[in-house]
Amino acid sequence: MSPPDAGARALARVFLEQTLSAEGNALMLEDATREEVVRRLAAAGRAARAGAVTPSGGRTSSDAMATGPKIAEAPNLETLAALVASCSRCTLHESRKNPVFGEGAADARVVCVGEAPGAREDETGRPFVGRAGHLLDRLLMSIGLPRTSVYICNVLKSRPPRNRDPLPEEVSACAPYLLRQLALIEPEVIIAFGAFAARTLLETKSALGRLRGTVHRYSGYPVVATYHPAALLRNPGWIRPTWEDLQIARRMLDGVGDREARIG
Ligand code: SF4
Repeated sequence: MSPPDAGARALARVFLEQTLSAEGNALMLEDATREEVVRRLAAAGRAARAGAVTPSGGRTSSDAMATGPKIAEAPNLETLAALVASCSRCTLHESRKNPVFGEGAADARVVCVGEAPGAREDETGRPFVGRAGHLLDRLLMSIGLPRTSVYICNVLKSRPPRNRDPLPEEVSACAPYLLRQLALIEPEVIIAFGAFAARTLLETKSALGRLRGTVHRYSGYPVVATYHPAALLRNPGWIRPTWEDLQIARRMLDGVGDREARIG
């Protein structure tokens, strides 16, 4: 058997480092992801041997994936944001107008995580703007947290075209950025806004209605799941349960344990 080429070795190294950095987190280890890595290893090997380049700037897919180790080693949020700005780890970089890295206090006690940038976020490069963003601000204020005191970001840093659901390989490619953001900020509580963010962080297919009202864990961080502000604009009846979920986060910040903080 001939030795693997450099591109394939780079991909294998990235996969192993992501696996190690995930500390057993199955988000990185889904069967689909494994199959994708194997498929990409084979494709990268073929591309490297053929000297293939991508349409986006002449980088091979192995070059793009090789940025993986830099993510886990980013010393601060600014460096990580620069990596996102030049990221081509998935095809969403081809259609986005702006990356939406996230914003807020680098030492925030709370990190709010949504699904992915929408049209306004893509235009502005900022997360949770527009009517949904204003509603988020008011919800946070209801538990004594000005927007400037928290950190706000999404699972994906680039907008899926026409706001379609993110694909598993896009989530897999982008997850190291969120993991590094959390590692740098070390929040006391994560609030997952919306079913997609909650299911992604908690690695479940359960309905949001079954996930809210209690405290979960993601990479060791407490997670409270609740409705997305955009959904609240369509369903005002969900504002009350959302407020109750945010009270769980408030109680966690006030030093109450997981079991005592949950509803009921
Ligand atoms: S969604 Fe994430 S992985 Fe994909 S291009 Fe944007 S920053 Fe990179």
